[in-house]
Amino acid sequence: MSDTKRVFNFNPGPAILPLEVLQQAQAEMLDFKGTGMSVMEISHRSKEFEGVIQTAEADLRELLGIPANYKVMFLQGGAHLQFAMIPMNLRASGSADYIVTGTWSKTAVKEAQKLGATRIAASTESEGFKGFPEKLDLDPKAAYLHFTSNETIHGVEYFSEPTPPAGVPLVCDASSDFISHPIDVSKYALIYGGAQKNAGPSGVTIVIARDDMIARTPANLPVMLDYKIMAESGSLHNTPPCFAIYIVGLVFQWAKKQGGLTAIEKTNRAKADLVYKAIDESGGFYRGHAKPEARSRMNIPFRLPSEELEETFTKEAKKNDLIGLKGHRSVGGMRASLYNAMTVDGAQALVNFMKEFQKKNG
Ligand code: PMP
Repeated sequence: MSDTKRVFNFNPGPAILPLEVLQQAQAEMLDFKGTGMSVMEISHRSKEFEGVIQTAEADLRELLGIPANYKVMFLQGGAHLQFAMIPMNLRASGSADYIVTGTWSKTAVKEAQKLGATRIAASTESEGFKGFPEKLDLDPKAAYLHFTSNETIHGVEYFSEPTPPAGVPLVCDASSDFISHPIDVSKYALIYGGAQKNAGPSGVTIVIARDDMIARTPANLPVMLDYKIMAESGSLHNTPPCFAIYIVGLVFQWAKKQGGLTAIEKTNRAKADLVYKAIDESGGFYRGHAKPEARSRMNIPFRLPSEELEETFTKEAKKNDLIGLKGHRSVGGMRASLYNAMTVDGAQALVNFMKEFQKKNG
């Protein structure tokens, strides 16, 4: 392993995974726990895989402090499928409210609209998705209120949850800040996210849902879209994405070894502060996208003085083993994603490069 080349990976997702997790997966690849088989080759009904999925769930419950009246599901179809499953399972004939703070909450709205009554409680689109809405126009009878805790493309992150009207369940797309800081799960009715940023590889989507939300599932849904069936079967109604669940489980163990989410949040804060400081101290050479109070710890989009310089930045960064910094086309410029597995050294290497680049080109 020591001769293997590893880079500083700032990809937005699929993204960097902890080296220790990859090494453990490598060590167990051919013979998982004495079975003489890879975890990809064993039955999802075997006692070994039962151990994998049950330990993953128990570790996630411990990390996030998930109360007993919530179910944890390991599903497929990405966060995109949840954009549809949530209204299908939770909305019945009512209407649902959405807060739109970026591309992903906007995409969630589009899916929900196809399936029934959907209200936009607030949108920051006209301001370019740079922060939080000043006011929410909330329906006190909404089936739920949906928000996106971290907008991966615009780099806008909520640091405390929006408050729904009494009795309206709060639903959160946490795809890109999942397990990056502690949260009070009891404030949420449902939290979901694709694993491929902080929690593991793509292919598994984690859904944490309160029991009364699962009880809302109508009787006539196709089985793969039915929370009740998925929850009651322990995510084993059909063949689950076994390998992805195994890696997610290793990531949860790694997160516990880091000292849990309080310790992880501290490191994430330190990494993000390094990069924002470099932006703020650049005299306008680097310009961040999000307003200061909404600046994401996970994804930092920023621009340079010209598109030519941005292209050169990407190329030069790559030569320095700083990978995945090209921003999303809708925002342009650069984006540094600093998920849990990114080290402080990695963030510092980026900052050093940014300073050098400015010296040469500023
Ligand atoms: N929500 C957010 C916040 C995301 O960042 C993404 C993916 N980048 C999605 C939803 C869509 O996820 P998926 O590709 O798993 O459907």
